Amino acid sequence: MAIREIREMGDAILTKKSKEIKKLSFRNKILIEDMLDTMYDKAGVGLAAPQVGVLKRIVTIDIGEGPVVLINPEIVEEDGSQTGEEGCLSLPGKWGIVTRPERVKVRYFDREMEATEIEGEGLMARALCHEIDHLEGALYADLVEDGLHDVSEKPPMQEEEESIEQEKEDSHETGDKQEEV
Ligand code: ZN
Repeated sequence: MAIREIREMGDAILTKKSKEIKKLSFRNKILIEDMLDTMYDKAGVGLAAPQVGVLKRIVTIDIGEGPVVLINPEIVEEDGSQTGEEGCLSLPGKWGIVTRPERVKVRYFDREMEATEIEGEGLMARALCHEIDHLEGALYADLVEDGLHDVSEKPPMQEEEESIEQEKEDSHETGDKQEEV
């Protein structure tokens, strides 16, 4: 298996719509393995095939609960909203504030091409929306509410956490790293 090169914003492939997978060919299976390797290598929460230069509707996600591979994913339900920081492996060193649904239900095909569904809340819902946007050629940069920030600028939520002494311990786990999807 192999680590693939991540395409960055400005690369035209990230603005194109990906094609549906009709059959899980050997080539597609290799692509999935490489996407997982690349996502873990870059410590990303998720990856979409166009980010490695392939216009196919395949997404990998791992929010720390094990890998999920989604083929031809489609949001079929969404509820509520959440506003928070978002990052992307295709926009290294950047983050922005994006509002997403709090909960989504996604229909997709798994690695055996069996039709199935997943429900995600919080970070999982955010990752699902972000990755499915990639398949439509959309980047979170178009959705940011206060522009793109450099990682050297701390997100407001982290500053709040750090100012509260008793929460210092908790914030250490997630405080220093952007979730890049
Ligand atoms: Zn992304």
